[in-house]
This record gives sequence, structure tokens and C-alpha cells, in this order.
Amino acid sequence: MTGGTVAVDLGGSWIRAGVVSPQGEVVDVLRAPTPQTGPEAVVEAIARLVERLPPVPGKVGVAVPGPLSVRDGVVFEPPNLHGWKDVPLQRMLQERLGRAVVLENDANAAGLGEWWRGAGRGSRHLVYLTVSTGVGGGLVLDGRLYRGATDTAGEIGHVVVDPAGPVCSCGRRGHLEGIASGPAIARWAEEQIRQGRESLLAARTRFSAREVAEAAEAGDGLAQEALGRAGRYLGWAVAGLLNLLNPEVVVVGGGVARAGRWLWDPLRQAAREASFDRPWRAARIVPAALGDRAGILGAAYLATQEGGEVGE
Ligand SMILES: [Zn+2]
Repeated sequence: MTGGTVAVDLGGSWIRAGVVSPQGEVVDVLRAPTPQTGPEAVVEAIARLVERLPPVPGKVGVAVPGPLSVRDGVVFEPPNLHGWKDVPLQRMLQERLGRAVVLENDANAAGLGEWWRGAGRGSRHLVYLTVSTGVGGGLVLDGRLYRGATDTAGEIGHVVVDPAGPVCSCGRRGHLEGIASGPAIARWAEEQIRQGRESLLAARTRFSAREVAEAAEAGDGLAQEALGRAGRYLGWAVAGLLNLLNPEVVVVGGGVARAGRWLWDPLRQAAREASFDRPWRAARIVPAALGDRAGILGAAYLATQEGGEVGE
């Protein structure tokens, strides 16, 4: 292989590093558990993975969880990385690796990856949602990642969809993430069971959204309702995005997006009902195509924007 770009996806549980070919294929992926002992250990773990990859020159793109300042290279307080606060990750990695590093928020990177080589390929305006432990988002507008005034744009999970809804993981009430994330779906089903509803899930004391999806496929009414409820809220949020941004494509990724028709049908129907006709007809609402490679691809794309190694 000639050329390519090194990119890293830093998650709360795993670090994955790979070389992305100029054609946008992820090759040579390596992974290691994310150290839970602070930023220095994470920097070291990333460096060891990168050193095991084929030696390709150029900047290293790194997708990081949670809010950050791309300009300053500082990661604020990622909810999935314990003990991190205002970490100058770009500088730390550059010193350790001896090469330039580009940071990006992981949902933004995944959205960019789907736009570049995934379900949104060829579009000019894309909205990306990822629904898993949280609900994240990324916006590609006019063929560029939209970061907003201080790099915090795209937080689709933290728009209010029900002012009387539950308190979100961010501490504010009524946000989409507090209603439609995987844990929120499971929590709602648990609550219904506690109130006496019958369900295949009642035999378990704890379960995840994946098990809710399995029960829904097995014909469980409560599980189907739990997914449908989340789907409707996601659909209302999508309708707002269609009316606001008029994208060509809305890509929905993350583990919960794999829950099938019990989530997707209500999502599409709610989006249809709550959006204007023109933006509705202009947009495809589709599942993500890249799975867990999206973040690495997006980070690689950003790392080569100036270098020109990766291109169309
Ligand atoms: Zn929130």
C-alpha cells in the first residue's frame, strides 16, 4: 500500500487505531482497552498502537469522546473518560508521537466519515445522529463539517423534545438523549414492568436496549412500544432538523439504530408528520453504513484536509 493516513478512535472502553487508504478503506486496525487511570496512560496506549501500525507519514487524526476545543486541542470533560478535565490532548499526543495531531469530537468525526465514504456519500448537506449510550450528532453543511462558534455544534441529543421528560445525563430536563438513548429505552421498559406491565423482559432484573430489541423481534408488546416511543422522539427531532437545515440525507447510526423496524417505522412516520413537505421529500433518512469504522474514517479525512493524501 502506498500512502494512507493514521487515525485513532478513542472511546470510553476501547481505543482503535488504523491506517486509512487514500481510497477511504480502513486497513490494519488495532485496538486496546482504554486505560481508566487518566490522560497520560491513554496517551501512552494510543502511541503504542500507532507505533505498531505501518509507518505512514502525515498528521494523525484522533476522534475523542465529548466536547473539546478543536482550535486549542483541549478535551474538556468527556463523560466516558473518568478523571479527565481540560486535558491538552493534542499537545500531549504531539509530544509523545513527534508528529502533528488533529482532534475532533467523535460524533462529528463519524458524521464526516459517513459523509465521505458511508451512507451519505456524494451529498452536500448531511445530518448524522448516533444513538447508543448517548445521542450524538454531527452536521456536514455545504460539504464542510459545521462546528459552530466554539466547536460545540451538533449536540442533537441535547435538544428538548419533552419539557416534562426525564432528567438527561447532562443534568437538564427533557433532552432527546434522556428519552431515546439505549439506557433510556431500557429504563422506560423497566419502569413499565415495575408498574405491572407484562413482558418477556420481566424475567430479568436488568437489561439493555439490545435485549429490548430482541424481545421486540420475539413479539413482545412492551418492548415494541419502548422502541416505538424512542423512535417517535427521534423522528420529531429529525423533523426539526429537516425543517431547520433541509439536508439531503439524515444518517442514523449507533447500536440502537440497529433495532430494526420497531424503531425505524415510528421514526420515519414521526419525521414525516412533523416536517414540511419540501424538506421531507428532499431528504433520505437512512441507517449508517460504516459501523464502528466511521470515526476513524472521519478523523483520517480531517487529518488529510491540508495534506491532500486522502482525496476523492
Ligand atoms: Zn442533555
